[in-house]
Amino acid sequence: MSIKTGSCLCGKIEYQVFNIKQRIGHCHCQMCRKFHGAAFSTFGEVDVENFDWLKGEELLKQFRADNLSLRKFCSECGSSLVFIAAGQEGKSVEFTLATLDCDIEQRPDAHIFVDYKADWFELADELPKHGENRDH
Ligand SMILES: [Zn+2]
Ligand SMILES: [Zn+2]
Repeated sequence: MSIKTGSCLCGKIEYQVFNIKQRIGHCHCQMCRKFHGAAFSTFGEVDVENFDWLKGEELLKQFRADNLSLRKFCSECGSSLVFIAAGQEGKSVEFTLATLDCDIEQRPDAHIFVDYKADWFELADELPKHGENRDH
């Protein structure tokens, strides 16, 4: 397992992750769509001790949603960087897979919250599809 690094669009914030979990979902919930400005989000997940900001942490802004989930983004360029589910603070960190600056071995393995997906986006792959979170 090697260390992977990622960064925001302007490059002022960099992070590193280690031991990315195998489970990676494409999330179609409305909050992820808004946070990314895209049809869906794709987050990788690591235990909190395997996530470190390398630089620019002071430039982060954060948004806490009504459901207490926390999202962090670059205040300079707006890149979506981190999602922490309610109750997971200090335990695990999800990071936007698309901000990695290197290849990874893992591949997304499911679509989640597809009941909320944008109607203009067509799910055309063979991955399992869950109407809500697959934990429930
Ligand atoms: Zn930035
Ligand atoms: Zn979501």
